[in-house]
Amino acid sequence: MPVASGVRLLAQAASGRNSAVRAALKQPLSWRDLAVPGRSLVPGCGGSRVDSGVDSVVYSPWPLRRRAAPVHVVSENSTPTPMLSRLKFKLNAVLIEHSWLLDFGYKAGYYLFWVEDAVRNFLATARPVAPSELERVKPNFANACVRVDVTTVCNARCTFCAYPKVIDNKTLKPGTMKLDLFRKVVGEWGQHRGHALDLTPLVGDPLVDPGLFAKVEFAAREAKIPVILMNTNGILLNRNENYRKMIDCGVTNLAISTQGTDRAEFMRVYGVDKYDLVMDGLHKLLEYNREKGEPVSIRIRFRNAQKPSAIIRSADFNRYIRPYLSRRVQVSFTVRYDTWAGTISEEDLSGEMMLRKELAPINVPCANLFSLTVMPDGNARLCGCQLKHSDVDGLVIGNVAEASLLELSEGPRFQKIVQGFYRGERPEVCVGCTAYRPVTRGWLNHYRAAGDGESRSPGSDPVDSDSVSGTPREHAAQPASSQ
Ligand code: SF4
Ligand code: SF4
Repeated sequence: MPVASGVRLLAQAASGRNSAVRAALKQPLSWRDLAVPGRSLVPGCGGSRVDSGVDSVVYSPWPLRRRAAPVHVVSENSTPTPMLSRLKFKLNAVLIEHSWLLDFGYKAGYYLFWVEDAVRNFLATARPVAPSELERVKPNFANACVRVDVTTVCNARCTFCAYPKVIDNKTLKPGTMKLDLFRKVVGEWGQHRGHALDLTPLVGDPLVDPGLFAKVEFAAREAKIPVILMNTNGILLNRNENYRKMIDCGVTNLAISTQGTDRAEFMRVYGVDKYDLVMDGLHKLLEYNREKGEPVSIRIRFRNAQKPSAIIRSADFNRYIRPYLSRRVQVSFTVRYDTWAGTISEEDLSGEMMLRKELAPINVPCANLFSLTVMPDGNARLCGCQLKHSDVDGLVIGNVAEASLLELSEGPRFQKIVQGFYRGERPEVCVGCTAYRPVTRGWLNHYRAAGDGESRSPGSDPVDSDSVSGTPREHAAQPASSQ
């Protein structure tokens, strides 16, 4: 009965949209779809770089998720076709209204991701990109999003994140970026007509930085970066009316990463007793965003130990979150978590959380190397979605206090790291990394096209690239937004 009813519901959602589905399937894959969707641009943690540690699934039919224009991108300039957007929205609505279907998609997502990874590895070795072809490829400038870590200080201790371990072991030196350094980096990015800026730290929560809003205002108003993305764990949203500042400061895409809607599970997964603060701050944020006409696209990313169905049936979800869901305000559920180069194991996870499995290593460079992150001390680091002991490691290619972003991206260190992969020589953090994503021929073609301005695309939703998301049916008639 549930299966029959699911098929019927999906058929209903898709009825009258067959041409849209066909059109979507005919669309070429975007460079973003091939290059770690969301990851190479905007990983993000559970308050920091959540996607450095996770993979989640969007509630949309799989072929569409892979083929569609980037459904996770919420910028005005990268909207999927309106028809496709409506179809996806309608399917999301179906899923969130039928919790058994949500749970089924959530579980199936884990295995589908695994198959996707295996196919990608196969393609990377069957039709390899030659070392000489990557010699002329620079990081970041093609994909139009740079990440600047405003802090590496966090106010949570998530079990799925390396942060508590590297802090306890004193191998990470926490710090916060000075405003002058931020202005230098982001000013340069603005001069390069940088399209997107991701302020989600590799580890840390941006709201811990007392200068955060001044930095965002500089980026939005002076450097004129059109898309500004950020992830927070939401613990400090309530302090000093930060929820208002967050909506007013110029951020375009915001993700709130939290466990779910159970106080005890929150405590277990996030390691701090702040559930009530997060819920209150989140509620006020959603309310204020709606009051202002939804200027900020928000995704609540559950790093859930609870089943998705338990969350959407809970009293807190229905009271604080559900009434605000719309095309601009969505939720997603995390399907799998990375090991942070072996730092996190199954024992660290609880409930529904599952670790991503490592595939057999291949000697092909990782696509995430082509993404640049500037750390609080000015170190420019490739990838920026994982660390093992410290952020000062084999992925650092220089410091922005001594050279410009462009000079660093053209320097010898970058190519040395990339070419080393072909010889099986990886930086320590890349050995056994479950976020590894090999360069493929399709990725290269689209990356080059993006660099030529053919498919220049803004940063992805800070949210997830791969997450199960849902929106309620009653909001389906709301005016279409960029999502
Ligand atoms: S401990 Fe902090 S940095 Fe790590 S996932 Fe949690 S909120 Fe993010
Ligand atoms: S293999 Fe290295 S570059 Fe690739 S995701 Fe992992 S840490 Fe980043």
